[in-house]
Amino acid sequence: MSKRPNSQAQFERAKQLIPGGVNSPARAFGGVGGTPVFIDRGDGAYLFDIDGNQYIDYIGSWGPHILGHRHPAIVDALQGALHRGTSFGAPTVQESELAELIIDAVPSVEMVRMVNSGTEATMSAIRVARGYTGRDAIIKFTGCYHGHVDSLLVSAGSGALTHGVPSSPGIPAGGTQDTLLLEYNDIDGLKAAFEARGSEIAAIILEPVVGNMGVVVPVEGFLEACRELCSQHGSVLIFDEVMTGFRLSYGGAQQLFGVTPDMTTMGKIVGGGLPVGAYGGKKEIMQAVSPVGPVYQAGTLSGNPLAMASGIATLKTLKELNPYDELAERTTRLAAGLSDAAEAAGIPHSLAQVGSMFTLFFNPEPVLNYSISSRNDTKAFSRFFHGLLDRGVYLPCSQFEAIFVSAAHSNEDLAATLDAARAVFAEW
Ligand SMILES: *Cc1c(COP(=O)(O)O)cnc(C)c1O
Repeated sequence: MSKRPNSQAQFERAKQLIPGGVNSPARAFGGVGGTPVFIDRGDGAYLFDIDGNQYIDYIGSWGPHILGHRHPAIVDALQGALHRGTSFGAPTVQESELAELIIDAVPSVEMVRMVNSGTEATMSAIRVARGYTGRDAIIKFTGCYHGHVDSLLVSAGSGALTHGVPSSPGIPAGGTQDTLLLEYNDIDGLKAAFEARGSEIAAIILEPVVGNMGVVVPVEGFLEACRELCSQHGSVLIFDEVMTGFRLSYGGAQQLFGVTPDMTTMGKIVGGGLPVGAYGGKKEIMQAVSPVGPVYQAGTLSGNPLAMASGIATLKTLKELNPYDELAERTTRLAAGLSDAAEAAGIPHSLAQVGSMFTLFFNPEPVLNYSISSRNDTKAFSRFFHGLLDRGVYLPCSQFEAIFVSAAHSNEDLAATLDAARAVFAEW
């Protein structure tokens, strides 16, 4: 008997109306099987579905809710903004206020432009880097996700250092011919690429800590090599901090690792649960953007007042609360606890964690790149996922995602999660 008949019925309905029943494929349970859970509401660390089940939420809307659902500061800010109107298509003071908070927080950002999603942020940053350098080629690492931008939806062609091929129908071959693909953490491959083509390379784009092939941590010297090679060859280093920004520290991965890129893309937490993306960087580069410079980029709803209010409240609260040390400590306890439980049950696994994001890989090897991650035992993950879901714990529905802990998760929530995991492994 399903514990979720209403979700099942609504999924059948949605599938008739929306491709796959979802507005973003990651929600469709494709990697784990079964029926997506339809959510009625969220509160703090919890989700409540339309069948009346409660879950401890480790997705946080895939990243934004580092403060938990419906944080009072965000709810108040949104209510205030709503009274003044939802969109004007003219400047507001709040746009500068959020820009100031971002510039103050993120070491590389001297100027910033708001957009509406992470995808828009990376798409725009790539365009600016190309416009600024007058070059076309970009370097991307296999397994890093930067949104559904044509030039970044790319798989490896045959042989190293060849141009990539589109990983989705609908992208012309020309859309990816200037994207060079390398394996994450491959410092030698990166050096070789710059030796061969350095003067053609507009930018490197990367997740400074990867969340999108599961959590993958940069090896010692990798971020530094990216920085050094870009400086040597006049290329723009872009950190895609859509996931890591305001999560790994208030200043993102770049603050945590002490490596400063030329440009940074943001999303997720910067909007506190509303649709916000942002890209920023050195003033000299950002002044290439229209209307100051020649690189065109625009948006009817960019800098939307509700979205700005939510972002401002989120960043102010994070700055004041400074929850990062405690979040990292609690996440370490949860991640190590899950790893220990898998160990005790004799289940091959490895663990990767930075701050409040981690992945328990059903893979005995440490996952350092996509080749290794592609060997994860996804069947084992599905069992783990559904076992936990049935016990009231909501993980991301794919082995290739990060589990997020929020400031709203209590020690009791973490302990209950570990108990649930032990129960799942006991039946393995
Ligand atoms: C989520 C994500 C994106 C895309 O953001 P959207 O808001 O979904 O368009 C880009 N880069 C990274 C690193 C992400 O995690």
